[in-house]
Amino acid sequence: MNIEVDKGSGFCFGVVEAIRMAEEQLAQNQLLYCLGDIVHNNSEVERLSRKGLVTISHEQFFSMHDTTVLLRAHGEPPEIYQHAEKNNIRLIDATCPVVLKLQNRILKSYEQAGKDDSQVVIYGQKGHAEVNGLVGQTKGEAIVVEGIQDLEQLDYQRPILLYSQTTKGLDGLHHLSEEIRKRSGETPVKIHDTVCRQVANRIPGIKKFAARFDLVIFVSGKKSSNGKMLYDICKKVNPNSRFISNLEEIEKEWFDQVQSVGICGATSTPKQLLEEAASYIQGIVDRSE
Ligand code: SF4
Repeated sequence: MNIEVDKGSGFCFGVVEAIRMAEEQLAQNQLLYCLGDIVHNNSEVERLSRKGLVTISHEQFFSMHDTTVLLRAHGEPPEIYQHAEKNNIRLIDATCPVVLKLQNRILKSYEQAGKDDSQVVIYGQKGHAEVNGLVGQTKGEAIVVEGIQDLEQLDYQRPILLYSQTTKGLDGLHHLSEEIRKRSGETPVKIHDTVCRQVANRIPGIKKFAARFDLVIFVSGKKSSNGKMLYDICKKVNPNSRFISNLEEIEKEWFDQVQSVGICGATSTPKQLLEEAASYIQGIVDRSE
């Protein structure tokens, strides 16, 4: 049996940096609060929680004062910074620079929207942490669309400024942009392609990788937006693709009649977990021989 881990998978630089900042703090203090899961991956959250990282909810954050809190790579809306300032909370801001830049661009567009009556639209997953941070730049006024089915909400008589959540797929963005342009006619539409290339550049590689194996095991947290998108791509290329979040979900029947297995994952999946999946599968195969 040939079992191979995708060399192109593993954390993106935004996640690597957030984890580095958390570990640096935890080396000096035994306790550090993190607003939301530092990464959409339980095994990594558990590893860091053993070192003293405590995940808090937004509700908990708003009742805190005089402490230190890490903000993860997804970014946060302005009210988080305002509450921190008023309540003596030191923020360790691990917002990814790519997200930070996008937040600033959306803020500028929102200011412009006040002058020319345009609408700020975000192609993204409603309720996702990054999207909440982006919508927060517009005092909650940006319209979030997940796909064509949400386009009814837009007013096609008014200019549209479209942005994308960083982890959406380029195909989805192009499809949506075409439809918006069609419906807008002569009304100005400005499309900002703000898909993060750390994700988009993985797509050609993962397509080639998934096509080479009898079975693909895709490892990702269920809440990961890019995990869902990259898995859908694997599944299209190779229908015998399986999504797992932890090793216990692997079933030995999947390996019947299979000669090769490819293992890959999201930008929030640790490389080590992919290696562990490879050893785990090797164990299943060895026991069934
Ligand atoms: S996917 Fe891109 S934008 Fe998101 S954290 Fe990683 S590097 Fe930053």
